[in-house]
Amino acid sequence: MSKFRKIGILTSGGDAPGMNACLRAVARKALNEGVETIGIKEGYNGLINNDLITLSSDNVRGLMHESGTRLYSSRCLEFKTEEGMKKALDTCEKNHIDAIIAIGGDGTFRGALDLTAHGIPSVGLPGTIDNDITASDYTIGFDTAMNTTISAIDELRVTCESHKRCNVIEVMGRGCGQIALQTGLASGAVAVAVPEIPFDADKALERMRKLRAAGKRSMLVVISEGCITEDGKPYSEVFYNRMKNETEIETKFYRAAHTVRGGVPSLRDRVTASAMGVVAVEELLNEKSDEVICEIDGRIVPVDIRWALAADRMYKNKLKPGELDMFSAAQVEEMKQLCAKRKAYVERLYYYIDVTADRV
Ligand code: ADP
Repeated sequence: MSKFRKIGILTSGGDAPGMNACLRAVARKALNEGVETIGIKEGYNGLINNDLITLSSDNVRGLMHESGTRLYSSRCLEFKTEEGMKKALDTCEKNHIDAIIAIGGDGTFRGALDLTAHGIPSVGLPGTIDNDITASDYTIGFDTAMNTTISAIDELRVTCESHKRCNVIEVMGRGCGQIALQTGLASGAVAVAVPEIPFDADKALERMRKLRAAGKRSMLVVISEGCITEDGKPYSEVFYNRMKNETEIETKFYRAAHTVRGGVPSLRDRVTASAMGVVAVEELLNEKSDEVICEIDGRIVPVDIRWALAADRMYKNKLKPGELDMFSAAQVEEMKQLCAKRKAYVERLYYYIDVTADRV
């Protein structure tokens, strides 16, 4: 019998398809262990405002294929304050919430870490369409978002071909080019720009001019929303303007933005969300805390949350001075290896795009 009576669960940050499948898995697995699951509404807001719902077996019925998050999501600045944390702890105490599962991105994990520091064991689950949690090969929602994006691109291509046009397409991915790389490769884009790799715009323009001269009717350029100019403009718009001003090719602009969060969760996302949800409950019931449940080389495994956050900052070149001091040399080395592996993967995808793109 577990020492926990109730586990609280929340979805925070950007919503991602598969979050609901995760809620279902957590609630059902916990019930199997005699533990109740309390849904916390609107991320950390619900903890502050005592806005809760019991996730009974009935309440999570039919959730598997629903996009979005039944618990709603929000960004909650108050949670970062002492006053906000105090209210959150009061809610936990009043409702006998003994532990928390927080689904979201790195900001959400920082919140979970704060809760543990205040005596509420917490575990994070990676739920973001961007696949930008460095410690995990995969984040819940990524596959669905890519499939929704590629469907839109396929549809654009049809009219592009009919009308002999180019489309510059901005796809989602804050600071992370994973969606752009995969959808760019899968859509046969002639050029793809991502924040991780320098983009040679002149080369791309030249390639398109030559292709058009050789008779190619439709062309797609995929640019990640994470590509931002030094003065803060979306690079997709800058490149689109260059297409219009510097070539004779008729070009349209398309932004595959928040609609891609609303696709029906794919099989991949439902399965991963279910597995991660079950492992999160197992970990808490085994009295583990301060973990992010990750997918690494096809396995669902817990990773220390502080290590995961530091590795993430290392990969994104955001480490603050002294941030690695708490880790052993071996742990830092592991982080470096992880970053190198991720970078190599991104470069490999970029290479596949480059060598398969149409050219003359
Ligand atoms: P994501 O989880 O997708 O990265 P955010 O960065 O917006 O999204 O974080 C989601 C929420 O997590 C925030 O609105 C806030 O409530 C909480 N949070 C973020 N950073 C911290 C932090 N440093 N300490 C405590 N809570 C945080």
